[in-house]
Amino acid sequence: MRASKRLKTGFVLVIVLLSVNLLAPFFTTREVALLLGEYEEQERLHSNLQQLLSALKDGETGQRGFIITGREDFLTPLYQGYGEVDKTLKVLKQDLRHDAALSAVLQRLEPRIDEQRTYFSTVIQLRRDQGLQAASDLISQGHGKQLMDHVRSLAGEVLVVLEQRMLVLEQKLRAHERLRMVLLVSMTVVDLIMIGLLFYFTFQALHEGRQVQRNLQGLSDQLSSGMQRVELRNREISLLNRLGRAMHLSNQFDECYQIIDCFAAQLFPLNSGCLYLYHPSRDVLERVLGWGGNQEEHEMFEPQACWAIRRGQSHEVKDASKDLLCPHLHGSAQAPQGYLCVPLMAQGEPLGVLTLLGQPMVDQDLAETFAEQVALGISNLSLRDSLRQQSLVDALTGLHNRRFLDETLRRELLRASRKQLPVAVVLLDVDHFKRFNDTFGHEAGDLVLRHLAIEMKRNVRTSDLACRYGGEEFALVLPEISREDAIERCETLRLSVTRLQIRYGGQPLGPVSISLGLAWFPADGEQADVLLHAADTALYQAKHAGRNRLCIYRSEAGDATLASS
Ligand code: GH3
Ligand code: MG
Ligand code: MG
Repeated sequence: MRASKRLKTGFVLVIVLLSVNLLAPFFTTREVALLLGEYEEQERLHSNLQQLLSALKDGETGQRGFIITGREDFLTPLYQGYGEVDKTLKVLKQDLRHDAALSAVLQRLEPRIDEQRTYFSTVIQLRRDQGLQAASDLISQGHGKQLMDHVRSLAGEVLVVLEQRMLVLEQKLRAHERLRMVLLVSMTVVDLIMIGLLFYFTFQALHEGRQVQRNLQGLSDQLSSGMQRVELRNREISLLNRLGRAMHLSNQFDECYQIIDCFAAQLFPLNSGCLYLYHPSRDVLERVLGWGGNQEEHEMFEPQACWAIRRGQSHEVKDASKDLLCPHLHGSAQAPQGYLCVPLMAQGEPLGVLTLLGQPMVDQDLAETFAEQVALGISNLSLRDSLRQQSLVDALTGLHNRRFLDETLRRELLRASRKQLPVAVVLLDVDHFKRFNDTFGHEAGDLVLRHLAIEMKRNVRTSDLACRYGGEEFALVLPEISREDAIERCETLRLSVTRLQIRYGGQPLGPVSISLGLAWFPADGEQADVLLHAADTALYQAKHAGRNRLCIYRSEAGDATLASS
């Protein structure tokens, strides 16, 4: 039963008991009053009877005095006494009219009193008439004494009955008094117990109330902290979604890292962190990103140097003296305070590792979700990049295609324009290529194209660009090169092609030669299409001049000069 309910019950009980307390004395007092009234009545009867006896005695005394002295004034007490006796007898008869036992005794007493009165009158008259001797003789016969004794005996009977009754009433009164005391004491004890219990329940109810209040406060605190957690979680989910969308829209790795940096700083505002990704060689991880002022960690490390990479799962260090510290974090000032390394996985393949350092420790679930999102974004970007690369590479020769040339040449010309450096643009075409197809088949033609691509790659610098322009035509972009060097490079390529001895199915395909047309940036044009057109014009000139040669575009005349043959 709850304290409040017990409290209510206690109050009801106390009210009931107090009511009983108040009413009990009323009933007992009424009973006692009745008994007292009865007792007083018996006492009054007793006193009346004694008064009667006393009056009779007074009468007897008066009669005796008169007999001895003969003086009439001695008779006054006799007459007064009998007057009193009549009155008292009348009262007694009236009072005992319903008391069968005592009124019977009284009826027997009354004639005796009358008889005694008559006797006294006889003795008094005899004394008057015949003197003392005659009266003394009569008295000495003892009749008067007998009468008095009889009267006394009858009155005594009534007195005994009255005294017995008074005794019984006294006992009853005493019993009532005891009962009243017992009731009073027990009610007081019960009242005290009830009041004690009431106090106890009251304090318990107050205690429960305070407990309930504390519980409610606790619940309220829990609720508000829960709400804060939900708000934080919502914010984190929103940030993670935005991160995913932003990464999905990004086409550049640099931009992608900036996005990761921006969201990492918001998701882990109290921590610093680094993002390491596998180098394409897959033998080392490079730091691509660091935030939170954490620049002291290694720029790169071997995969073996990270426990998260080795185990393929998150590695958390809370106490550097008890946990295994990743070797790549040796020397870090923050790592001993605690850190978390989370491997970045994409389709079961490790991409890199995310390292979060500092106190308070980051939420591991959040860090892993963030790492998943980052891994997904980077792997999507890699995929898109490789698809884009594939779309920009010619499948037959492995050289970049014309689309790539269009994109790159425009950029290269802008850069050259800014730096005021020259760029040579060369178009070259296999001479009489159709013959290879026609004579040895299409696949033999493909083989020639592949060999030509190898030669081109071998004869250009890494900063140069060699592309398959279309069919058996190729393009070269040679930035930051002097005119002489460009001509020399083209010539070297042309001669190396002429030295090719290609065999297909064991059969030699015969000599291969190329014709080249060269245009010059910025002299022959500043736009990519203008330069390509100029190079194409020069190439046409080379073909026209007999093939297997280089022609240089001449802008003034709109034609080309022969550079070699
Ligand atoms: P020219 O010296 O005037 O350039 O003569 P050509 O035979 O080289 O030029 P032409 O334009 O007459 O022929 C080019 C041929 O190249 C036509 C086409 O079938 C062939 N060709 C284009 N692309 C490919 C290819 O990818 N593989 C093969 N095997 N042949 C190709
Ligand atoms: Mg052609
Ligand atoms: Mg050709």
